[in-house]
This record gives sequence, C-alpha cells and structure tokens, in this order.
Amino acid sequence: METQVSNFIRSIVAEDVAAGKNNGKVITRFPPEPNGYLHIGHAKSICLNFGLAAEFGGHCNLRFDDTNPSKEEQEYVDSIMEDVRWLGFEWGDRLYYASDYFGQLYEWAVQLIKKGKAYVCDLSADEIREYRGTLTQPGKESPYRSRSIEENLDLFERMRKGEFPDGSKTLRAKIDMSSGNINMRDPVMYRIKHEDHHRTGNKWCIYPMYDYAHGQSDSIEGVTHSICTMEYEDHRPLYDWYLDELGIHHPQQIEFARLNLSHTIVSKRKLLRLVNEGYVKGWNDPRMPTLAGIRRRGYTPEAIRNFCDRIGVGKKESIVEMALLEFCVREHLNKVAPRVMAVLRPLKVVITNYPDAQKEYLDAINNPEDHNAGTRKVPFSKMLYIEKDDFMENPPKQFFRLAPGREVRLRYAYFIKCENIVKDEHGEITEIHCTYDPATRGGDAPDGRKVKATLHWVSAKHALDAEVRLYDTLFTKEEPDNVEEGKDFTDYINPKSLEVLNGCKLEPSLKDAKPGDRFQFERLGYFCVDTVDSTPGKPVFNRTVTLKDEWAKIQKGKK
Ligand code: ATP
Ligand code: MG
Repeated sequence: METQVSNFIRSIVAEDVAAGKNNGKVITRFPPEPNGYLHIGHAKSICLNFGLAAEFGGHCNLRFDDTNPSKEEQEYVDSIMEDVRWLGFEWGDRLYYASDYFGQLYEWAVQLIKKGKAYVCDLSADEIREYRGTLTQPGKESPYRSRSIEENLDLFERMRKGEFPDGSKTLRAKIDMSSGNINMRDPVMYRIKHEDHHRTGNKWCIYPMYDYAHGQSDSIEGVTHSICTMEYEDHRPLYDWYLDELGIHHPQQIEFARLNLSHTIVSKRKLLRLVNEGYVKGWNDPRMPTLAGIRRRGYTPEAIRNFCDRIGVGKKESIVEMALLEFCVREHLNKVAPRVMAVLRPLKVVITNYPDAQKEYLDAINNPEDHNAGTRKVPFSKMLYIEKDDFMENPPKQFFRLAPGREVRLRYAYFIKCENIVKDEHGEITEIHCTYDPATRGGDAPDGRKVKATLHWVSAKHALDAEVRLYDTLFTKEEPDNVEEGKDFTDYINPKSLEVLNGCKLEPSLKDAKPGDRFQFERLGYFCVDTVDSTPGKPVFNRTVTLKDEWAKIQKGKK
C-alpha cells in the first residue's frame, strides 16, 4: 500500500504513540450512517482512518451509526461494506453498529437522570426550537426542566414502553440554556419514534440522537482517536460533557476539513435526490461521485487512494479540482491498462490495391509502459474503419490527418493514401478509397518519406460491435452547491453529461473482455466494460477518462 503523506492528524497520533498515551495503541473507526451510498468524500475519511490504524499497528473499526430508523436501510449497509473493501481496507471482526449499543445507551441515560443531569420534556419540536434561542440570544428554560428525578425515571421508562405518541416527549440533557454554544442548550438525547429499525425491529420505540450516541459508541469501542469532519467541532463540548458526566473512556476527537470536489456534489441527501428524481440511473450511475459510480466508470482503488494522499488533510475547506482526481486515474491506468484499437464513430476505408480475399495479422504492443504485457495480433484486411474525425475533405492548415491526396500511417500497419471519396445522394461521405504501400508494413517507408499522422483503425470484417458511453461532468457549474437565489442545485446539471454511441467498432481481441476490465482505446482514452448493461457478445463500454491532462493545464495556468 502507498505510504501516507504526513498531515497534522498523523503528527498528533505519532506524538501520542511516542508518549505512550493509550498504552501506545491506536484505534480509529469509520462511522457511516447507512442512509445512502458512500461518495468520494467518504474515501478521504476511510483512507485516513484505516491508513493511520495500519501505519501505527492499530485497528480501524467499521461502525454503522444507525440511530435514525426512518432513513436507514440494509441496501446501504451492504453497499458500504462492499465499497470499503473495494477501496482496499478490511475491518476484520470489528464490524459494529450503534444499534448494538441501544441497551447500554439507555442505561447511561437512566444514570444521567439519576444524577439530575437529564429530564423528560413535553415541549414539541417547534417549541424546543423556539426556546433554544439564537446565536445572539440565550435560550429559555423548559417548564419541564425541574421535574423530580423520580418523575423523570418513571416517564422515561414509559416512553420506552411505548405509552406516548411520537413527538410528545423527549429526554433532554440538563446543561445550560444560556451557553454560547447552542449545542449545549439542553440538547435532545432521545426522541419517540414508533418505527421499525433495520436491525432491532420493533424492540425500541425511542431512539438516541446522533449526538448522544456517537461519542459513547466511540468510547465503548475504546477508540483512541475519533477523527471527524469540521462541522462536529462545535459538538465536541457536548460529546465531552456526556463522556465526563458518565465517567467513561474518553477518545480524543480531532476534526479535519471535508473534501469538496469541483463540478459535483458530496452530500448523500442531494445524491439521493438525483437518484429519486431520475436525474441519474441509480446510485451506481457512472456519472455519480459515489464509490459505486466511479467503480463502474472504471476508476481504480489505487487511483483513489493516491488521490486521497495527494489532497492531504487540513482544517481549511477548499474545493479540489476534478481534474486532479482524473489525473490520478489516468496515471494509474497508464501503467496497467492494455492498449487496444477501437473506432467510436466509424468511417469506412477501402484499400483498393489490397487483394479482396487477403487478410493478415499484424503485431501490436499491448502496453508500452509494461514490457511484460507482450504483443498481440491484429487482423488487417481490405475494408477498414477509421474515426470520422480523422478525415476531412477540405482540411484547414492545422489538420494533419487524412485528406484527399494525403498519406498517413495506420498504426502497426501501413501507410495509406486517400485517392477518392464516395458520397451518397445527400452528399454525405460514405466511404473513402485509399491505396496502401506494402513496403511500409509495420514501420517506415524505405525511401524515407514521412507522414504527419498515425491513425487507429479496425478491420471491418473482424470488428466487434459495441455501445460506448461517453461522460462529461455531471454539473456545468464548478460549485453546484453554491446555489444562486431562486435556483436549485439540479438547475446546474449538465444536459450533455452522457453521450451514447452505438455501432462502435472494436478490434476482435476485445471479445474476451469481461465486465469491469479496463483498456486504453488508443488516442481516445481509458474505457471500462460496464458491469451492469453488458451482455455476452455485446459489450457496453464506459469512458473512464480521456487522455487529455487538464490537471497539467491548470497547474501551468497557476504558474
Ligand atoms: P453527507 O453530508 O454526505 O450525508 P455525512 O457526514 O452525513 O455525509 P456520514 O455517513 O455521517 O456522512 O459520514 C461518515 C464519515 O465520513 C464521517 O466521519 C464523516 O465525517 C466522513 N465524511 C463524510 N463526508 C465527507 C467528506 N466530504 N470529506 C471527508 N470526510 C467525509
Ligand atoms: Mg452524517
């Protein structure tokens, strides 16, 4: 695995280990709520938590923070486990659920009531909000705040037994309604929800709030470094309060800045809207920034881990360019993806001086970056396809590819020269007629004449048909989260984010390609066999990324 680039959290952990804190142990956790699929932002947290644990000989737990039965589903639990494994991390026997701690959390709540530190409140959600005050105004104490310990114990138990309807009562921590930190103004610990939970079924009808469950769950697991994103910084005093009042193991919470990526969104709530409202074809749509989506698109775990290392870990929010992620994907695929030839928008070429019945097999290099990858045979015959874009009838000055009277090289094959154009009754070019020079087979012309372009091609008779899907960014706006007045983030969806090409022609070696296999189509980009829509003999390819390095351009522009 890649070595971790240093960051401030790593430094804290290294110091703690050196100082023998927690007996030199490092236990971290990745704590997703199973209310959606993981996205690229989660990858940052996964790499950080699992990476630190591995580096310091510790453990990283996978814990589902499943305290809200309304939004959580088994499908999400399963997908999260699949995605974490795919990224290359293993939690071993350390799979936990906050719902496993419901019993313990309940007992601790009773303990706080007995200490006079929690009370049952009859205010409605709206009233609680009203009483809470604002950033500039202190809150007001609930009229139920002074209930006796006995009454609170009785009411809380009856809440658990299901005697009260949803929303009629809550259990609240008794802290300080005038605190400058709104999180400390008697936060709700438990609410009533007569709803089945995906794991505990109908056992409970009261559920702990995330803020009451999170810190104690970390504590139960003996987590030493509780790493979370910046928005929890203001909640830390509350987590500290619960842990200190209960007198239990106190993990150290450290906050870091979330990853934001340009031209996309990393919020499960918004991603769920894209799915539910049909803007994409599911959580694993290759345009989605979900791990399921980018996996299907052809991104590799190595590339994502490398990306997470490069972006580093800090406390300041920023937006990382999508181009950097694509750069990392390209960098990895360049090393590992076999090269093949494929024509996406075919134009027929007839080699007029090539014998009708003849065919031959030419040697092609599988990967110039990997000498062990070897070579393969590519069939050549009288009728070929080249890319429509590679021919122009009336080329401008800068166009060096095929044109009437001009000679180019066909990769691994021959020089060909365009002699004639055939058009249909609408004036559309249907095929072009060329001659080839047999003396140029697989190399240069013996007389030393040069050509300015090398084109990829596919033999018509041998070609495999395929559908190819090209992708552009899902949003046209760099920051789709930054919504203008009167607009919705969905207004920035790129109407051209998907282009489907049918009748693409692939070299025949691709007939053995399996779902998930990745290739470089020479001159066109990296492509991956779709794992959902491909059928035997009729593959669908997703373009993972183009060959254009936008990141280099951005870096140059900054200099
Ligand atoms: P979302 O806003 O997408 O719902 P979340 O923070 O509510 O995200 P959780 O399931 O609670 O999602 O996240 C699990 C862990 O992943 C948390 O520790 C959280 O801090 C971290 N995480 C979530 N989004 C990002 C992000 N964009 N960058 C880094 N870490 C993230
Ligand atoms: Mg969350």
